[in-house]
Amino acid sequence: MNSSPYDIAVIGAGVVGLSFAMQAAQKLPHLRILILEKENGVARHQTGHNSGVIHSGVYYKPGSLKARLCVEGAREMVEFCARHGIAHETCGKLIVATTAEESARLDDLLARGEANGLTGLRLLGQQEMREIEPHVGGLRALAVPSTGITDYAIVTAKYAELAGASGAELKTGGGVVGFASVDGSVVVQTRAGDFPARYVVNCAGLYSDRVARLAGCDPQLMVVPFRGEYYDLAPARAELVRNLIYPVPDPQYPFLGVHFTRRIHGNIDAGPNAVLALRREGYRRTDFDLGDAMETMSYAGFRALARRQWKSGLMEFRRSFRKKEFVRSCQQLVPEVRDEDMTPGGSGVRAQALAPDGNLVDDFRFVPQGRFLHVLNVPSPAATASLPIGREILKMTLSAGVVT
Ligand SMILES: Cc1cc2nc3c(=O)[nH]c(=O)nc-3n(C[C@H](O)[C@H](O)[C@H](O)COP(=O)(O)OP(=O)(O)OC[C@H]3O[C@@H](n4cnc5c(N)ncnc54)[C@H](O)[C@@H]3O)c2cc1C
Repeated sequence: MNSSPYDIAVIGAGVVGLSFAMQAAQKLPHLRILILEKENGVARHQTGHNSGVIHSGVYYKPGSLKARLCVEGAREMVEFCARHGIAHETCGKLIVATTAEESARLDDLLARGEANGLTGLRLLGQQEMREIEPHVGGLRALAVPSTGITDYAIVTAKYAELAGASGAELKTGGGVVGFASVDGSVVVQTRAGDFPARYVVNCAGLYSDRVARLAGCDPQLMVVPFRGEYYDLAPARAELVRNLIYPVPDPQYPFLGVHFTRRIHGNIDAGPNAVLALRREGYRRTDFDLGDAMETMSYAGFRALARRQWKSGLMEFRRSFRKKEFVRSCQQLVPEVRDEDMTPGGSGVRAQALAPDGNLVDDFRFVPQGRFLHVLNVPSPAATASLPIGREILKMTLSAGVVT
């Protein structure tokens, strides 16, 4: 065992854990900080498999942490990328209504966005929409000019570099398997050895609830993995999508619906859908882990959700297995897209917390527990909001009074 305790051990080298570690190391250079990551590099899970969108904050409930931290985070993300020479672009996006009902919901989105402090939002008729996106279908759209794109794996690698430059140590291949308590410190037990620490911040993403349980905390939720699958649009058809084209989200779900995204590296993709994954890190349809699947199925919260949402769940499964269904969703936004224009692309797995009553936990959730802080629900837009989220975690860490 490494004998002298670290001041802070951070579990998880995704965009959230590393944003916190970087800011803690920069602001409190006298502290010894250790980042423990089970993989052999950073950003290997949600952070490296997302859509790369710098969200504006238009969707989130006014007053929520998501709304506040996303709006602040989008501004800070653009500044951070500019300062460090990371490719990014504020290209704007269209949220497109394809039915009368969705069209009514666009008015609510406009009001939400304005309540969250966004400027420049505009409702557009068909002609104006097509001046921005000539091939878009639908009835009406909301233009969101502050939305942007970047590559969060590159952003996260920069957070790691800056954390290291300020003295933080990164230990990869250091999956956390348990905790013990010795002389008032927590001993973090990992596959790479034991590391004593005075304070532990759990940013383990898809495993954050399990890590909390290992620490003796009942998190009152379960992380349910939802896989999102992407299709690539053939480069020869790239003229169909200039920037970002999104549907109007269904208020019953936390996910934004299948959308078109121009990536910062030039390709265009469509997705992600939202299918229950039968393994926590199940990136392929065939991935299955009996323990993970049983854990989800036997959770009361999951059974309550399944009773309420079985129809839409089945529909997502169908869309996952039948390309035609997926392409049909895309055609609602861009009618000229054809089956042969789309080829299967990558996928990502979202960590979405589910409460015991079957409600998806909507807002970010942080649970302090003595010498631990558990970051238990930081789904999208947490990559966008990663800088202010890291700052919030630092505030909570200091207010625990263990490290100063
Ligand atoms: C398909 C998809 C699309 C998305 N699109 C966007 C978007 O466009 N814009 C946006 O802002 N957000 C988006 N998000 C959300 C965003 O990617 C996540 O909110 C964010 O990456 C969460 O970061 P994290 O650090 O909490 O988790 P992760 O990136 O998952 O990092 C957690 C880390 O913890 C490690 N870990 C787990 N268990 C242990 C253990 N026992 N010991 C040590 N290490 C452990 C993992 O290996 C991992 O590296 C998307 C997410 C997905 C999946």
